[in-house]
Amino acid sequence: MFKVIRLSALILLCNFTLHAQNINYARKVINDLCAPEMYGRGYVKKGDNIAAKYIREELKAAKLKSFTAEYFQEFGFPVSVYENEVKVIVDDHGLIPGEHFIISAGCPPVDGVFKLLWIDSATIDNQAAFNQIEKQISRQTFVVVGEVKYQKINHPERLKQITSNEFNARGIIYAAEKKLTWSVSTKWDQFATIFVKEGILKPFQTSAKITIAAQIKSHATQNVIAYVEGSKYKDSFVVFTAHYDHLGMMGKEAIFPGANDNASGVAMLLDLANYYSKNKPEYSVVFMFFAGEEAGLFGSYYYTQNPLFPLKQISLLLNLDLMGTGDKGLTAVNATVFPDEFQELQLVNMDGDFLPTIASRGKAQNSDHHYFTENGVRSFFFYLMGDYHFYHDVDDKADALPLSKYNEAFKLIQKFADHYQKGE
Ligand SMILES: [Zn+2]
Repeated sequence: MFKVIRLSALILLCNFTLHAQNINYARKVINDLCAPEMYGRGYVKKGDNIAAKYIREELKAAKLKSFTAEYFQEFGFPVSVYENEVKVIVDDHGLIPGEHFIISAGCPPVDGVFKLLWIDSATIDNQAAFNQIEKQISRQTFVVVGEVKYQKINHPERLKQITSNEFNARGIIYAAEKKLTWSVSTKWDQFATIFVKEGILKPFQTSAKITIAAQIKSHATQNVIAYVEGSKYKDSFVVFTAHYDHLGMMGKEAIFPGANDNASGVAMLLDLANYYSKNKPEYSVVFMFFAGEEAGLFGSYYYTQNPLFPLKQISLLLNLDLMGTGDKGLTAVNATVFPDEFQELQLVNMDGDFLPTIASRGKAQNSDHHYFTENGVRSFFFYLMGDYHFYHDVDDKADALPLSKYNEAFKLIQKFADHYQKGE
């Protein structure tokens, strides 16, 4: 009797591990992907390549199949890389990269000591003061735009002249930023732009040593793709996608970990990969981890141009990005493009009582579903919503991420995907 009880307890336990999502595993993946050794999964120290190898190991461990020799689909693109000095020193006071300031994504190289010319609402509306500033602008100056209430100034055209750098300063500093949001660029801007958090710079500060080492590099990377073969309908594919790249580093100190964007989506994909590997589906299920999303959807674009099986065999594609919250529900991009499927999604959600709301959104070129949609693939982009405001900044860290509705979102997505298993 004892043995029997133990056996059924074991079966119960097995059932649990076989059928349930695994938030502990997801948490571990997010921690690993956001570790300093991944360098923000971008363009400094080949961070994204290190992440790709990590994902491949996880897929191997989950015993997934590969369309290619080793799960990789290689490609490349140019990118502006900041792997050396990125420094702003004002009156012997070094600003902290990432926390006090960021540079524009396509900031060209700068090196020197520059005069700072402060501009704010008062100087813009005062003709004499504005002319005085205009006269002083040269290649040895940065114009510092302080607090400007756009609605309240009488001469917005003067502000426009400054921000478009009509007077040819070496660059522009925006000194009243509420939040710093970085990004990636494939080319350089016309002039240097630096964004500084409000309260860091003061109008009496008149000179700054600015060093920005920038290089345009051709970056070699890869998509990581694996699948579980269907037991009945091998040629019908449900596809899950998530980008694994993030912004990398800005200089030698500032790392952008990208926990929510998109270590969280990668973690859920790997968790789904483990799930389907243990619970063999009738249709084939594919997992695509794209590179170069932040630089301009490069990985998913490359894939749609070089698909590993015909795109028309995809019965449903779900792109997951920003899976770290959920207490305010989920947004479905392409809901208005596929209204019947969106209704189905809502029914599944109501049925399982998973998330508080499912918000409908139209087409948007904002993540890796885009080129699939353009190629006629039935696709959605899902992102979760909640009180988490770190985005494209140094604070989007693994330990800050709540994963508040991770389990519910996993179940919703998995159950919704189950409806499209026969390629109908
Ligand atoms: Zn993203």
